[in-house]
Amino acid sequence: MSYPLSVTPMELFLTDEVFNKLEAKVIQAGAKALLPERIALAWHLRERDTQRALRMAEQLLAELPSEPSSAVLRLQLLRAEVHWLFADLDAAEAQALTVIQQAQQQAKEQADVLVLVMADAYVLLAMIAGDRGDLIQRRAGFDSAAALAAGCGDEFRLEFAQLGGALAALRQDLVAAVNQWLPHVRRRLSQPAHPALHLMCNEFLTFQALQQSDYATVFQLCSHTVSSLARAGMVRQVAMAMTTMGVAFSKLDDHSQALDWMQRALDLARPHGWPLVLGLALLQFGHAQRKLGALDAAQQALDEGLNLLAPLSNSRAYAFGLLYLAELQLDLGLAEAALQTAGRFEQADQPPRPTELRLSAMEVAALALSKLGRADAAHAAAQSALALAETAKLPLQLSNALSTLAILHGRHPLPAPAGMQAASPALHYLHLALTAFPPELRQSVPPSLYDAIAAECARLGDSHQAYAFGREARAASESVHRQDATKHAVASEAKFHAERAAMLNETSTTLERLSLVGQEITCQLQESAVYTTLDRHVHGLLSAHYFAVFLLTPDGERLSLSYGSEDGLRLAPYDVALSHPSAHTVRCALLRQDIFIDVDPTERPGVLLPATQPTLSAMFIPLLSGEQLLGVMSIQSTQAHAYADRERLIFRSLAAYAAIAIANARNYRQLEATLLRLNQAQAEVHQKNLELESAYQSLTNISQTDPLTGLRNRRFLELNISAEVSLTLRHYLNWQRRQEAGEVPHTSGPADVDLLFLLVDIDHFKRVNDNWGHPAGDAVLVQMRERLQQACRDSDFVVRWGGEEFLIVARSVSACSAHVIAERIRVSVAQRSFEIDGAAPLALSCSVGFAALPFIASQAERLTWQEVVGLADQALYLAKHGGRNAWVGLAATPATATMLSLNSLTHATKGAVEGGFLRIESAAKAE
Ligand code: GH3
Ligand code: MG
Ligand code: MG
Repeated sequence: MSYPLSVTPMELFLTDEVFNKLEAKVIQAGAKALLPERIALAWHLRERDTQRALRMAEQLLAELPSEPSSAVLRLQLLRAEVHWLFADLDAAEAQALTVIQQAQQQAKEQADVLVLVMADAYVLLAMIAGDRGDLIQRRAGFDSAAALAAGCGDEFRLEFAQLGGALAALRQDLVAAVNQWLPHVRRRLSQPAHPALHLMCNEFLTFQALQQSDYATVFQLCSHTVSSLARAGMVRQVAMAMTTMGVAFSKLDDHSQALDWMQRALDLARPHGWPLVLGLALLQFGHAQRKLGALDAAQQALDEGLNLLAPLSNSRAYAFGLLYLAELQLDLGLAEAALQTAGRFEQADQPPRPTELRLSAMEVAALALSKLGRADAAHAAAQSALALAETAKLPLQLSNALSTLAILHGRHPLPAPAGMQAASPALHYLHLALTAFPPELRQSVPPSLYDAIAAECARLGDSHQAYAFGREARAASESVHRQDATKHAVASEAKFHAERAAMLNETSTTLERLSLVGQEITCQLQESAVYTTLDRHVHGLLSAHYFAVFLLTPDGERLSLSYGSEDGLRLAPYDVALSHPSAHTVRCALLRQDIFIDVDPTERPGVLLPATQPTLSAMFIPLLSGEQLLGVMSIQSTQAHAYADRERLIFRSLAAYAAIAIANARNYRQLEATLLRLNQAQAEVHQKNLELESAYQSLTNISQTDPLTGLRNRRFLELNISAEVSLTLRHYLNWQRRQEAGEVPHTSGPADVDLLFLLVDIDHFKRVNDNWGHPAGDAVLVQMRERLQQACRDSDFVVRWGGEEFLIVARSVSACSAHVIAERIRVSVAQRSFEIDGAAPLALSCSVGFAALPFIASQAERLTWQEVVGLADQALYLAKHGGRNAWVGLAATPATATMLSLNSLTHATKGAVEGGFLRIESAAKAE
């Protein structure tokens, strides 16, 4: 038996139809099957049934002479591809290189066949490099393949390799690659071509749309790939498109749809056992599970995914997996494990991972360290994240790093940041986190940041700021709410897309219009606005004279007309009980089914629908939010057969948008009510704070006020005098400094900055009590208040010092004018009699003793205010002894400053006066 040593030129990919024919042919022929066809079958089984492909290749290689013919090389390349599919990249690469080398040496044999094996080997090398994230090698592989294909005039391979190169270029420089390749891709998609080429074009556009967060386009492209291009024989790529679809749903926070798509990718990839495809899908699956709160399932998926991707531990996908795992571990309270996982980000001897991912990992590490009580290390980690985000100029990440620092400062006592102006370190960092958003990104500030600032202000007792930032949080969450609604609209559109695309073939314009309408409807936050927007668009898109929305009442027993219009006029509200035996709305709600009514105009008028005008066509569609029935939406037309498939589909889409918008508006209303309550609570707290403050204020007033006279008491003086003393001393020290510097002329002291202490004691007060009774004494004390206040300035302190003794502290005066004040006081008492109930006016007098602070101008700090009061007391004693109704002041002499101790001034006043250490100032009685 002789074997042909070469196979005819082999396709790179076969569509399912062609492949099925080939397989049928080989199976039918049984043992007599021709070698080229068996080799082709094995080759095209590589992604369809990898294990079977490998078994066939081994069998064929055993049958063939070992000499490296094109047949042998094709089978060896198949083996290399299997290595690649099973993530043994080194083996795959080595084998592909051997194939290329041997093909070069065999060039004498049918050249084109060999060259195409080589070209396919280069494609494989490109795919291997792609998995490793080596974009340069990836492009080089495709370039070599393209050059070889061009040489043999193989247009498919040339095109395929070029598109492969374009995909690599896209990852290197998005803008340049789009400029270079987008027109080509568009042209290719507009022409019939092998589905494998369309698939590559979709991949190109998907990547671009993902970068622009244009998820609606991602859905459109991926669902096209999954539904229409699955027959291209590129099973791996189809599984990847499913994963991408899941990622897009994840980005739109529709995690259950995301899970569905990941599951589809897993179902497709699992029978093949390809680690990379499985690993990737598992990571995203785990991520979506975590978002849905299924933490254990998430952990399992992430562990398995990372395990499968271990051969690619440098790849971006692996880095994402690590990050997902670290975040999950933190959620699970496994701080130590989270820290270790985050630590795996910084890898020795390897190029650093993408900066945004590194930053996220550093933040996880900081939070994990904080949970472990290692405050300093957490702080250091957050600080390095901050530095890196600053260098990389990534505003969002910068803001995150600053928020993390705020969290850490809230949890641990850490050194306050340099240059802190805010009332707390946490507030300092939160403010910085806010300003990290440049003006054009202000609308991306997450509500949680405003909330955190409001909470911190509230904690610090600044209810005014707390209130202001609470409002900002509310505005931000409103905008998030609108964005959420748009996201839901996009996601729901993706769900209906396949169905719709099949039906509406004229339709890219209708689709575009519907999608705009959807956005407009779903971004309304008020139910009434949802209805009017719907009403307007219903009439724009469909023929209808009647439009109505019925909502289920809260008790679930009736449908209530929430909005209805007929011929442009609003309908009055009414209810239909769900027990109604025949109403279409009720039937539609109970069955949760669309109801279409198409009345034949030739029939009796009795079957017409109950509306004011004869209705010939009608649609009733249940409004469903997930599993929950919200109500029923209906339109009717006087035209016969107005609603065919296309119209039904449009109305269904509108109903889907309406349900989203109504649910969203309801959620928003709840949010609004919650916020209102919160605001009220905040305002109440604010009011309570004010009341507390004023209560506290009056308490302090009471505790610092003498109840009999209403004058200040000793406690008041003790609390307030030190500020006055410091002020006076500061003036003196300043004066002294300027005098030493020769800036002011030599004087005995600065003017009008002294504190003067004057003690006032009523003379023979005991007699008042004794002769007229205690209440009379009290009356005198009360009248003293007015007299003393009149004798002083408003700014002076008038204190009831005890019994019938008062202390007056005159501020901002010069010591030399003390006698004037003393005399005014003395006169204020002596000049006018006191009124006493039931007795004649009573003439009284008082004595005054005073001294000034500073007592010694050149040594301003030598006597405390208490010691100065002690001296004033001594002076008062002298005034009493001098015969009362008089004032006496004590002042320093030049010798006072030379005394080592000043104790004797108060304890032996008389001696000090005689020794020339004290000077007495006094006046004879006024009469
Ligand atoms: P002197 O001229 O020496 O000051 O004679 P005096 O009688 O005023 O003597 P002293 O200062 O010792 O007397 C104070 C008296 O003031 C004793 C006390 O009964 C009386 N007193 C103290 N507090 C009150 C008060 O709140 N109401 C009344 N009615 N009398 C008081
Ligand atoms: Mg007294
Ligand atoms: Mg007295």
